[in-house]
Amino acid sequence: MRTAAAGAAAMLAFALWSSAAAAAAAPAGAAAPAADVIVSGAKIWTGDPGRPEAQAIAVLDGRVVALGADRDVMAWRGAATRVVDAGGRRIVPGFNDAHVHILGGGEELAAVQLKDVTSADEFARRIGERAAHTPKGEWVTGGTWDETKWQPVTLPTRQMIDRTAPDVPVAVGRYDGHMVVANSLALKLAGVTAATPDPAGGVIVRDASGEPTGALKDAAMDLVMRAIPPLTHAQRRAIIERALRHAASIGVTSMQAVSDGDLASDYADLGVLAELREQGQLTARVYAIPNLAGVDDWTKLGLRHAFGDAYLRVGAFKSFADGSVGSRTAYFFKPFDDDPGNRGLLASEMQPLSRARERMQRADAAGLQLCTHAIGDAGIAAILDLYAGIAAQDGPRDRRWRIEHAQHMAAGDFERFAALGVIASVQPYHAIDDGRWVEGRIGHDRSSRTYAFRTFLDHGVRLALGTDWPVAPLDPMLTLYAATTRATLDGKNPNGWFPEQKLTIAEALTAYTQGSAYAEFQEAEKGSLRPGMLADFVLLDRDVLTIPPAQLRDVKVMKTWVGGRLVYDSAH
Ligand SMILES: [Zn+2]
Repeated sequence: MRTAAAGAAAMLAFALWSSAAAAAAAPAGAAAPAADVIVSGAKIWTGDPGRPEAQAIAVLDGRVVALGADRDVMAWRGAATRVVDAGGRRIVPGFNDAHVHILGGGEELAAVQLKDVTSADEFARRIGERAAHTPKGEWVTGGTWDETKWQPVTLPTRQMIDRTAPDVPVAVGRYDGHMVVANSLALKLAGVTAATPDPAGGVIVRDASGEPTGALKDAAMDLVMRAIPPLTHAQRRAIIERALRHAASIGVTSMQAVSDGDLASDYADLGVLAELREQGQLTARVYAIPNLAGVDDWTKLGLRHAFGDAYLRVGAFKSFADGSVGSRTAYFFKPFDDDPGNRGLLASEMQPLSRARERMQRADAAGLQLCTHAIGDAGIAAILDLYAGIAAQDGPRDRRWRIEHAQHMAAGDFERFAALGVIASVQPYHAIDDGRWVEGRIGHDRSSRTYAFRTFLDHGVRLALGTDWPVAPLDPMLTLYAATTRATLDGKNPNGWFPEQKLTIAEALTAYTQGSAYAEFQEAEKGSLRPGMLADFVLLDRDVLTIPPAQLRDVKVMKTWVGGRLVYDSAH
């Protein structure tokens, strides 16, 4: 716990720094404050063009007070200063994942693991094993299966699960979050039968006789998910703590916590996060992005921009334009190449678009930020239309509207993106994952503007990097690997899938730190290491700036500091 005196010391130190010619100048006078932490003997990539590299960093009261050569920074050493020798290794600013589902991610860490399953039998066996250890009254959920990895490829059904888990309700999701498959008991508890109509924006997959197969797409998922008993506060807290421990262990110091879908769950998460923050146990900074459906709750509070502090803020709202390519629900101008009658779906909450616009306008009028999921070219275009209309009506302002995913761009929309100052909040890991099969669904021409990170930068569009965890792994090294190599997971594109869209490691690091900070209006607080900035940084076992990009995925985090506090140490 910080005292008022320590805060005053930090202010004094900061004033001294501000007036000094050199940032690393020693504090003058006998009462000069000493640093809490000094990390020396490092290779620090600061992200600050004024001082791109440094050897040492000093932290006082949660912020960087000095940065520079070892001998200069050591002048901040006092009797109580904790000094860490980095052993010549690389330090970078903490990673800021711009799109995370904290609860969903934490649940996945604890859930039945189906992601690497390669057959229907294995799928059923693992669910059966988990069901056998599931307390009565609880469901088997989670999963993140991907039937495209199965031999043979086939959509899972309730019958597959009924064989191994007939007595426990099961609802396991596809890895992209746009489909679940339930067993017969779960369908029964949810009241889903052959007579249940498809909800708007969703599909109940049915067999030849009209019976539900157990697979439920997009809005239809909710038919079953709402039958699952809600988490208790203690369960939710344990899940979120697990997610935070994982984040610390891989150098994620900020997470932009995108709605898990349901507003009540978003608010319950916020309650847990606020409790952790209050107790000093929030080990990553969180920018909460609840569902736009709750916007009126927040406008009633009179919020302008974000509300909160450096650890926990709210100020942006999430909505959906469409679905995903994997579930063939992303909204395109032209049909899928392998499904000629289908060009995807505009999300139910966008129908009609005028209603979505009304809600967005209320958020914008209150100075709140918009983050909209849009994947297909027509879905993205529809959101750019809405954004442009609102901006034209309400006048210019620093809005930093975002499009989440921005996967498949129409050729003419890069310029519109840039002109509106819209941020592309992208997840490079999807490029090496979906890159295995997406060309078969949308063809070569559309694929050439898919995960088009380089084209965004060339047009002056700002990138924020993230993972959409648990859709993709939270590990920043995998994202850096994906952005710089574009080498698909099947090994078929070792030199990169659409290699002209690769980023350099410096560009990827910048987007993952400053870019993500900009996307939450925090670039003056974090994302680069300069005196005055929050002391969030990560010590790596290898130098990501100099190793071949193909080796990035093997880099490990040795230590993670958040606000100068060591929140992860691989040695312990
Ligand atoms: Zn997401």
